[in-house]
Amino acid sequence: MSENRIENLIVVGGACAGYTAAVYAARADLEPLVIEGFQWGGQLQNTTEVENFPGFPEGIMGPEMMVRFRAQAERFGTRFITDDATRVELSDGGIQRVFVGDDEYRAKTVILAMGAQPKQLGVPGEVELGGRGVSTCGVCDGAFFKGRDVIVVGGGDTAMEDSIFVSKYAEKLTIVHRRDEFRASAVMQDRAREKANIEFKTPYVPEEFIAGNDGALERVRLSNAESGEVEEVAVGGVFVAIGHIPGSELVKGQIDLHDNGYVKVAEPSTRTNLAGVFAVGDLVDFTYRQAVTAAGSGCQGALDAEWYLRDTPPTDEELLVDPGAEVEGVAATS
Ligand code: NAP
Repeated sequence: MSENRIENLIVVGGACAGYTAAVYAARADLEPLVIEGFQWGGQLQNTTEVENFPGFPEGIMGPEMMVRFRAQAERFGTRFITDDATRVELSDGGIQRVFVGDDEYRAKTVILAMGAQPKQLGVPGEVELGGRGVSTCGVCDGAFFKGRDVIVVGGGDTAMEDSIFVSKYAEKLTIVHRRDEFRASAVMQDRAREKANIEFKTPYVPEEFIAGNDGALERVRLSNAESGEVEEVAVGGVFVAIGHIPGSELVKGQIDLHDNGYVKVAEPSTRTNLAGVFAVGDLVDFTYRQAVTAAGSGCQGALDAEWYLRDTPPTDEELLVDPGAEVEGVAATS
């Protein structure tokens, strides 16, 4: 790669949204560079079976799906840097700079696709039993718990929504929340309360997730948040639904964010407040958060970037590197 090179497009983040953006951008001959992160694959890397992504009627393992997304992007000429972006210098319509340690990468456009991470309780067994009874996505994993007794932890809309969905499969579902009051909207609470097999248990917090002899989750130790009294409950599954943390730390202070830390875009587009900077996937979405919606958003980001490149004359910095750069900037890389 030339030291002087100015990329058409850098995608920051390698998961559903970022790889889909790369597939579209690569097929548009933009030769995208994806800074995919050291631990690429996002939340699907910690997911077992995915049964709700169209096109995989038999289901597919989350990590395998990410390998396929990545391979599809690579097939059309995407290049990857398997490391974390450590710093960005974003510009409003100028050259965008992304740093990986001391290495600087420049581009005419950037698509931010850093995703979000589910919040964790931080109790023993939570990580170890991920995919073996402990889940952070009711909509993804609810169907695996048919006829089982399960717990959903949390008191927000996500906890209510997950509960309503999972209650279709579970024998009994208990919503465990640390306070007697709920953050969830009244309508969502009412819908959960109307379900015959949903119970509420407050104010309780999980202290430990315990495996049975088969290595899968068997019991949860709960403690009363007021009295400290402890009890153990037998369960087939636990859904931790206590919120998400968007991966926007990298761009904080440089781009408009919502109060909850998610990147603001001019919906229905993926345009941020900075020209040439687009944001996609779970980094902007605190409503749907599905693999398929993230992928769709990645596609939108690539099309937005392509149209921006088509319509934007080259900057002075770009002309310095490539005096022959044309308005159809897609041909202008050295
Ligand atoms: P949230 O509103 O931040 O709620 C998180 C819940 O988890 C709170 O009840 C919180 O308890 C609890 N919690 C946080 N940390 C905890 C911990 N360490 N231990 C135990 N409990 C903990 O998050 P969310 O439910 O994911 O919702 C996020 C946003 O998406 C909200 O704006 C929501 O309205 C929206 N959303 C909307 C829909 C819908 O309308 N269909 C569906 C999903 C999400 P406290 O209350 O005590 O802090």
